[in-house]
Order: sequence, then structure tokens, then C-alpha cells
Amino acid sequence: MDKHQAHLQLQAHLRQLSTQFAQRLQAELPPLAAQARQLLQASDGESQLLLGQLRDQLHKLAGSAGTFGFADLGQRARALEQQAQHWLDSLQQRQQGLQDFIQQLQQLAEQPHQAQVEAAPAQKSRRKAAKHSPEVEARVIYILEDDLGIGENIRLTLNTFGYQAAHFSNIAELDAAIALQLPDALIVDVNLPNESQTGLDYATALNHNLESALPLLVLTTQNDFATQLQAARAGAMGFFGKPLDIAKLENRLERCFTQQHGEPYRVLIVDDDRDLSSRYSLVLRSANMRVDVLNDPAQILDAMASFNPEVLLLDINMPNYAGPELAQIIRFNDDWLRVPIIYLSAETDIARQMNALIKAGDDFIAKPISDNRLITTVFARAQRARLLSQALARDSLTGLLKHADIKEQVLLEQERALRSGKPVSVVMLDIDHFKRVNDTHGHGVGDTVIRALANLLRQRLRRIDSLGRYGGEEFLAVLPDCSAEQALRILDEIRQQFSAIRFSAAGCEFSVSLSAGIASSNGSAASELMEQADRALYTAKQGGRNQVRQTE
Ligand code: GH3
Ligand code: MG
Ligand code: MG
Repeated sequence: MDKHQAHLQLQAHLRQLSTQFAQRLQAELPPLAAQARQLLQASDGESQLLLGQLRDQLHKLAGSAGTFGFADLGQRARALEQQAQHWLDSLQQRQQGLQDFIQQLQQLAEQPHQAQVEAAPAQKSRRKAAKHSPEVEARVIYILEDDLGIGENIRLTLNTFGYQAAHFSNIAELDAAIALQLPDALIVDVNLPNESQTGLDYATALNHNLESALPLLVLTTQNDFATQLQAARAGAMGFFGKPLDIAKLENRLERCFTQQHGEPYRVLIVDDDRDLSSRYSLVLRSANMRVDVLNDPAQILDAMASFNPEVLLLDINMPNYAGPELAQIIRFNDDWLRVPIIYLSAETDIARQMNALIKAGDDFIAKPISDNRLITTVFARAQRARLLSQALARDSLTGLLKHADIKEQVLLEQERALRSGKPVSVVMLDIDHFKRVNDTHGHGVGDTVIRALANLLRQRLRRIDSLGRYGGEEFLAVLPDCSAEQALRILDEIRQQFSAIRFSAAGCEFSVSLSAGIASSNGSAASELMEQADRALYTAKQGGRNQVRQTE
């Protein structure tokens, strides 16, 4: 099904939901009007009760009608709700307004209602040409950097990391290349002494002329506010001072792309109104999100655990439970701290909104909710939540995965290997006599050595490999679809390259070695690979260090 068909199908679904809602109106509005008429004869106590019920139902109606395209009905219901609330609050004589109130409700019940269905936005796509499979095709990165050493270094690092990078040392060359093929991202240096404009000026003008702007990363020695502002205005997704930390650059680049082509965001909707929640769900699905709907709030803990949503949409008023109560329950659990909670509510009363937010929760969307508003709010929240959790999973010194996350990745790959029958290798790696480096040259120099090894590993391993900082100077990597022989060969090359690096500190040069242990399986017994790799590492240390060992 192509996008256009999908869009038409969505429109048809939305129309169907509106028709259902119109039927529901026919069933629900006349009893509401009848209830209002009872107010004429009711005692004071009775009418308080009746008014309260009326207010609640009008409140619900006001919220849902607009969302289904019955904007006029929604507004009129809202006005009646406010009138009912006013009477409830003031306990005043309501005789004069009551006739009018009843008459208006009666009109609502009798007149036919027509939905004005808003066209849901078709899914946006940055690429113009159909892309077969973004995973298979290498992403093209253009680098504009007048310093040959830096430019080449970035190019080589990105290439070993699976990108197709090209380096240009002046604007004319880059311009020519861009005329032939647009890259997937652009990296520019700001100061170009031989040019009449800065790299940032160039990128700004280029993006301005393109139909959809290229992801842009900016490199510079000029770390000031004005330059950062200009970069932000040019739509830059990253800003890096020099000396350049390539690990960070590569991370950010990867982030740009996961943002564009990553897994769909997962959204959980909790609303007792089935029609409304199916509508929200359809709209969000049309924007390529995965949606789970929960109509029974008591099941929320199970739904959170099994669906693992990245955003929670929570109705404020539900029978038996209030949205903020559920939000507080969610916040009891630290695992879900990173999940933004957005309230959906017909609540227009600012003070009540504030109260709800103070208890727990992050944002508010007032019903009726336009499709665009729903999509943009949820998208923005989901994007931020995902970026945050990715950043939290990264070690700040090396940019690699942290202990818990790399361990989880190993388990995942082990299971995958068990299913696919393909080989997988796990590598445990440790710097030799690292304590001496710290003791002799200081902790700061020690940090540089750790970073250098992280960068080397990053360069040498493939994109599908996962790499983490397991502990202080210990690294853990998992190489899917990689046999024992291949793993041994790669790791031994890395060992040699690392020991060849000359570090310098306070005028003296030194080099450092590493030891590694590898455990592989051809898919049959992929469990316990981590422990086996650890034992192999121990053997390597015992055997004199500066070597790679495999499990026997
Ligand atoms: P071995 O060859 O047996 O591995 O000896 P080693 O000295 O490398 O091993 P040991 O585990 O005794 O020492 C590791 C040292 O690494 C101790 C710790 O202070 C240091 N370390 C851990 N994390 C960091 C870090 O982030 N930065 C720096 N500079 N040092 C760290
Ligand atoms: Mg060590
Ligand atoms: Mg150690």
C-alpha cells in the first residue's frame, strides 16, 4: 500500500468514527435534555445532584465532539457546562436562566449534527526518491574542512564506521559534488581562511535553497554564543569545538539518522472513551507511531510493563480514577521516569490544570484536540524522551554504551544467534597495567588513553557490532554474525594498532598494550558467552598480557 492509499484509508476510518459518534449523539443527547427538564420540578438537593451529573456529561461531550469534527456542538456543550458549573458554585437562584438552558439542550438533541473532518496530515518524508532500504545503503556524508589532517581523519573514521564520507577542502569542490548528488548530512568547518564566506554561511544558504534542509553538523574553534546562534538558526543538529572529539561527532550523526529513520515511537493511550481513543490511535498511527489503547485504567501497570511506551497519553476524568492519580502511580516506579505523561482533558480551568501538573505529569492537551496538535505534541515529547534515554545510556568519557546497556545488548545478540543459528562473538577487553599510566602520568592522561582505545574500537568494529565501556578500563563488545576466527583476526589487529599508538605526556612518550578474551558460538550455545570471554581474558593476562585469547 503506498502512502496515498494509506492516507485515503485513514480518511475513510476517520469518517467512519465520526459517523459512529453521530449515532452516539442521537442516543445520548435526548436523555440529557430530559434530565435538564427535571430540574424544573426538583428540590434543591435533587437539583444539585442532577446539575452535577449534567455538568459531567456536558464536560465529556465538549471534549469529544470537537475532536470528532463537531466543533460547533463542542462549543455549545462547553458553554452549557460552564453555566451548570456556575450554578453549582454559586448555589444561586437559577430560575431565570434555566428555561434557556433547557431549550438549548433540547435544540442540541433535535438538530442533526454534521462532522467537519479535518484532513489528517499525510506522513512527511525527507527523501524525495523512494529509498529501498536505508539499512543497506551507506549514508553519504560530505565534509567541508580546510585542514587536511582533520578532514581526512573525520572521513576515515566515518568510513570505517560504515558511512560513505567524502572530504572537500574548499567550497568550489563541495559545490560541484552537491550538484551531482545531495548527501544525507553535511559537516562544515566555520572558518575557511581562503574563502570569502564561512562554512556556516555556505551551509545556511544551501539549506535555505533546498526543499528540505540537510542535517548539518558544525565544527569550529569559535565556540562563542554568536556562532552557536548562527548555527542554531541554520538548523544545525550538532556543534563541536576543536580539538574535535570524533566519538561525539559520530554519535551525534547516528542520532540524526535514528531520529529520521528510527523505530516508530510507542504511545500508550489511557482513556475510558473507546471512540475517542480509537480516533487518537488512528491519527497517531497515520503519523507512523505505534499505539496501544487502554480503556480500563486499572490495567495500566501491566500495559506499561508489556508495551514499554515512550509517551503516555492520559485522560483526566475517568470513572473511578483520576488521571493525576494514575500519573502518580506511574511516578512511583523509577523505570518509567523517562516516560512523559501528557494529559488529555476537556478541562479548560487553568487552576485545575495546574493542580494536575503539580501532582505528576508533564503536559496538557485540551480537548477538542486537532489531529495536527495531537501529532506534533506527541512527536515532540517522544523525540525528546528517546534522545534523553539514548544520552543516558552513553558513557560520558567514551560515548560508548554503559555497563547495563552493553550487557543487555550481549544478551539480545545471544538470543538472536540462538534463533538464527548464525555465529556470534563476545569480546572482553582490558588495558594492561593501566594503574601505572595513571600513577606515572596522571589521571587526565589515563582518560586520554581510555578515549583513544574507545575511538580505535569504534573505528575498527562494524555498525552492527555493539560496544560498551564495561568498567574503568574494561570494554565489552558483541559481534553478531562473526565467527571465532574472524573475531580473533580483528581483535589481534586492534591489539597491534593500539600498542603502536605513541602517547605523549609532559614531554615523554609512552605506549600502552591491551589484553582481550573472546568467546564465540555458532549459534548452538550462545549463553554464558560473557563469562567465557572473561575467563579467556584472565588467561591472556596470566599468559603475559598484550595478547588475545579464545576459550578453549
Ligand atoms: P591489569 O594489566 O591486570 O589489567 O592491570 P591494571 O593496572 O590495568 O588493572 P587494575 O584493575 O588494577 O587497575 C585499573 C585502574 O584503572 C584502576 C583505576 O584507578 C583506573 N581507572 C578506572 N577508571 C578510570 C578512568 O575513568 N580514568 C582513569 N584515568 N583511570 C581509571
Ligand atoms: Mg587493566
Ligand atoms: Mg581492569
